[in-house]
Amino acid sequence: MFLASLLPGSNRAGPVPILRRLAPGVYAAVGDTGRGSEGRPNAGFVVTDSGVVVIDAMASPRQAEQLVQAIRSVTPRPIKWLILTHHHPDHHFGAIVFRRLGAKVIAHPDRRVLASEGGEDALMANWVRVVGLDAMRGFEFADVPDRPVTGTDTLRLGGRSLVITHPGAAHSAGDLLIWLPRERVLFAGDVLIEDGVTMVVDGSSGSLLRTLATIDGLSPRRVVPGHGAIPARPAALVARTREYITGLRAAMRSAVEQGTPKGRAMASLPPADETRPVSLNSRRRRNAVRVYLEEERAYMGLDSVP
Ligand SMILES: [Zn+2]
Repeated sequence: MFLASLLPGSNRAGPVPILRRLAPGVYAAVGDTGRGSEGRPNAGFVVTDSGVVVIDAMASPRQAEQLVQAIRSVTPRPIKWLILTHHHPDHHFGAIVFRRLGAKVIAHPDRRVLASEGGEDALMANWVRVVGLDAMRGFEFADVPDRPVTGTDTLRLGGRSLVITHPGAAHSAGDLLIWLPRERVLFAGDVLIEDGVTMVVDGSSGSLLRTLATIDGLSPRRVVPGHGAIPARPAALVARTREYITGLRAAMRSAVEQGTPKGRAMASLPPADETRPVSLNSRRRRNAVRVYLEEERAYMGLDSVP
């Protein structure tokens, strides 16, 4: 989900991801159900008459190779495109594997994330601690898009259509939603995760709420979250996410209005887990800090809540 961040040991290359067929030719590759943000990410792929479109590249070259193995269990067709839902390392650090197979990359051009603020060397050193040196063999950055998307773009390949949209900076600056209108399947990236506690520290709560409304408007039959299980009812996961973020905004707004300092406003939340930056408690606390600052800026009239 978010680099600097992950538990050493989480995201380690596990077995070949389990495939779930969501519609004819449309598959989710499920990372680690039950471990939420701390587990391996989800990915997916669409098999068309003219080749394969992969959605997200997982957290390391080794994990990407396992994804390729899973794809090859379904089809021998060439992999033509890799679409990235965003630029957090656990979703694109396997991208080089697909490029070497000849795929072109579709992504948002804004690759900035908090995790890379310390520079790429620090990012790499941290990430090796997360996934292990072995899993990173052959790594190269490969997330600069050949086909950048900042608005909406429709990829047509072999009789399929994939609508790729930047919904705003909800989870991160480079968020993209991938929507298959005919199959009514949505790949949501980390805008949705298993437990509804989506991180907004790289994005904003306002953009997240607008993005959730966009997803509701699509009325998807199936959604693939960035981490964890595929929900039986997509609308329920969207509602749960909205409820969480709306409640957090209300709590932080009233703290700001009552002049409660940030530290005290956090007091009702359980402490963050020191070595687990994306555990549930850590995500809740980090989001609370972010949303408090959003509400404070809005209260002071510095800007409207983004
Ligand atoms: Zn993420």
